[in-house]
Amino acid sequence: MPKTVHIVGAGMAGLSAAVSLAAHGVATVIHEATEQAGGRCRSYDDAASGMRIDNGTHILLSGNTMALGFLDRIGATALVTGAATARFPFVDLATKQRWGLDLGAGRLPFWVFDRRRRAPGTRVLDYLSLARVMAPTKDRPLDRVISCGGPAYEQVVRPFLLAALNTEPGESSSALARAVLRDTIALGGIACRPYLAPRGLSAAFVEPALAYLSDRGGNIRFGNQLHRFVVNAGVVTGLDFGDKTISVGPDDAVVLAVPPYVASSIIPQLQVPDEFRAIVNAHFRIVPPPGLEPMTGVLNGTAEWIFAFEDRISVTVSGADRLLRHSRDEIAGMIWRDVQGVAKVPDELPPWQIVRERRATFAATPSQNAKRPGGRTAWRNLALAGDWTDTGLPATIESAVRSGNRAADLLMQI
Ligand SMILES: Cc1cc2nc3c(=O)[nH]c(=O)nc-3n(C[C@H](O)[C@H](O)[C@H](O)COP(=O)(O)OP(=O)(O)OC[C@H]3O[C@@H](n4cnc5c(N)ncnc54)[C@H](O)[C@@H]3O)c2cc1C
Repeated sequence: MPKTVHIVGAGMAGLSAAVSLAAHGVATVIHEATEQAGGRCRSYDDAASGMRIDNGTHILLSGNTMALGFLDRIGATALVTGAATARFPFVDLATKQRWGLDLGAGRLPFWVFDRRRRAPGTRVLDYLSLARVMAPTKDRPLDRVISCGGPAYEQVVRPFLLAALNTEPGESSSALARAVLRDTIALGGIACRPYLAPRGLSAAFVEPALAYLSDRGGNIRFGNQLHRFVVNAGVVTGLDFGDKTISVGPDDAVVLAVPPYVASSIIPQLQVPDEFRAIVNAHFRIVPPPGLEPMTGVLNGTAEWIFAFEDRISVTVSGADRLLRHSRDEIAGMIWRDVQGVAKVPDELPPWQIVRERRATFAATPSQNAKRPGGRTAWRNLALAGDWTDTGLPATIESAVRSGNRAADLLMQI
């Protein structure tokens, strides 16, 4: 067991590694380049809209056992709210049809056999093609495994996989799609209940983790941007932050939990995913009208998921690279028109903010999936973590937490 572990990067991967180590009595020091923890999963006070907002609304599903386990460990379970059942209301802006996909709350996907619980115009047979995704085969683009078209695909499979993979499902890795389905839909509604963080991502995922670490003597140093490692005889012996170098003792270890493009600049020989997909989020400062569900799926619009919070309506668009050529005003207008198609809201735009995360996740394609390294490195006391490492999952909180826990386990064995 190492004496002290230095964790570089305070995103969900770094925080979960630190929490896991601290739970086993290991001393932790986190070095974070910015002035805030949370990485791609954070809240901030936005001056333009006058709201505290999240960089993007994050949802967990009840099948995300590692992420929920992390919340449990840091005492933050009450800071996320889970729906009682896995029912997803949808609005099709092209046909004006409204319907609900009702996966229920049980262990078996009985909903497939009930016309009222599945998407309109779909048959049981349409869903059975999903079984083909579940058969383990060589990783291929999904459209070579199933036909990516038809009502069940357009109304159920595509929205669900696009949100999970942040990549157009047809070009996505069949292995990652299988992992998502295996851990959620295939287990029935019990694994698909959505969880949201109504008081914000930082309040739920970050602040309780920092408090947990601090209670156990952990340290976090902001403004510490790692430039390179000092290495001697196959072991990391120092962390070079440019203006200072911190030595890593013979009984100490390091977790590198930074994004892939930073990891490969620090370790040039490391192969990492290098293609990304954007996520765009819109936040509108307005009290949602009565009846607007906490989460609504939107088909045939720019908006994909509309979320109703106490003081705002937030909208998520995944695989959103096509939107990046539009100005923020244009994006806000396009998305607000979709919100108007779903809920009774005024014509006039309320105060808003558009958050464009250009490198929100690595592209979940087979070729990018093949570039993901595991947690071990050539240096005995260094482990990698991050949603982009080879966790078998797409880039999600679940993947980040799994990678952090794995890095902690690897280092506790040295
Ligand atoms: C808009 C958006 C919406 C999303 N929605 C969902 C969702 O609904 N559900 C879901 O499960 N996932 C979602 N995700 C994905 C999820 O946010 C990520 O998978 C997860 O946060 C990744 O955590 P990480 O620790 O691997 O990486 P990061 O969060 O990128 O953390 C890396 C950290 O390293 C720091 N760092 C970088 N360079 C250095 C350096 N040289 N030295 C020190 N520190 C450094 C960074 O500042 C950062 O804090 C979403 C992501 C985005 C962007």
